Amino acid sequence: MDWHLECSDCGTNYPPDGLPTVCPACNRPLLVRYPIRTHQMTDRAEVRRRHGMWRYRTFLPLQLDEEPITLGEGDTPLLAVPRLASALNLGDLWVKDEAANPTSAFKARGLSAAITRAVRGGATAFTLPTAGNAGVAASAYAARAGLPVRVFAPRTTPRTILSQIVAFGGDLVLLDGHIGDCGKASRAWAAESGAFDLSTLREPYRIEGKKTLGLEIAMQMGWQLPAAIIYPTGGGTGLIGMWKAFVELKAAGWLTDEMPRMFSVQSTGCAPIVRAWEAGAETAEPWADPWTIASGLRVPGPLGDKLMLRILRETGGGAVAVPDETMAELATFATRQEGIDFSPEGGASVAAALELKRQGLLPEEGRIVIFNTGAGWLYRTPEDLLGPA
Ligand SMILES: *Cc1c(COP(=O)(O)O)cnc(C)c1O
Repeated sequence: MDWHLECSDCGTNYPPDGLPTVCPACNRPLLVRYPIRTHQMTDRAEVRRRHGMWRYRTFLPLQLDEEPITLGEGDTPLLAVPRLASALNLGDLWVKDEAANPTSAFKARGLSAAITRAVRGGATAFTLPTAGNAGVAASAYAARAGLPVRVFAPRTTPRTILSQIVAFGGDLVLLDGHIGDCGKASRAWAAESGAFDLSTLREPYRIEGKKTLGLEIAMQMGWQLPAAIIYPTGGGTGLIGMWKAFVELKAAGWLTDEMPRMFSVQSTGCAPIVRAWEAGAETAEPWADPWTIASGLRVPGPLGDKLMLRILRETGGGAVAVPDETMAELATFATRQEGIDFSPEGGASVAAALELKRQGLLPEEGRIVIFNTGAGWLYRTPEDLLGPA
């Protein structure tokens, strides 16, 4: 394999053999490093001719003679939303609609990459903790690979999301507590059964799949970058992945724009990154008693805290927390304004754009890209809208 792994914290290098996890020296996440010449051998026209997120395979952990485990993830629309923008006075606002992925959330990207590599590395069964959508994607991609997956999820996860895990054949285990508690149970099950743990940032390849969010935005903008990005942050791989994408594209000479200002949005009910940002800290303390309707944001102690805070600082971005009521209201409003099925996490991005504008932190000029990370229907039942049958 022509890439290697590097610790995001202590910088130690490792070969990518077998089933890599975190840095054996310091337990921090490992990142994939590619030789720049690999990117330079491909031209941008070739990327245009291919389809889905694996069109960027020159930036992904896949050898030329390998095929990915795929359901056609990626190639989601980047949509101008002029009606929403003018109703809220938000300028040149665009939405990256990740609901268009298989399993209806951006988690498909990460799990396609992680399961592709884990199968090559010899995994025969999977396990993971989830706040919801990662469990659906893992169940679908494990099915695609013909392998079993056990999914540990909080009992309070939206019922429709839980039902999708079961629909795709995941072995669902419900626990009292949050994703951190599910993580402990998943690691214990991995140790007991030999199943490979796909937890965010506990293996280096999910983030490579999420990186394609950034590669895709750059291509969709004609190899330019937006002025600002607002991302609903849970474990943080979307944010870290996009940043990694832009750094790699610049190093390869595929784009010359400055980095976008990267902003993280969380719920006031679980905002470890926002609290650390406001305190000027380098790492985040775990959030006690986390709760939010945006289940993807209910991550009280993300492993990528240090890396995320560095990215927010280095790009001149920041972090804001918004209340659940505001994100829910704006999700409903934005859905009806534009015909895009906004999840609460997507509503949080809209709310954050308003809040950042109010604080004078949004760039006056240039494109603002916000994320609808998953589909709204995953968070409701027909009865929520229609009343009892
Ligand atoms: C997982 C998830 C998030 C959080 O993404 P991270 O990359 O883990 O920060 C946001 N929105 C939705 C819908 C999710 O499923």
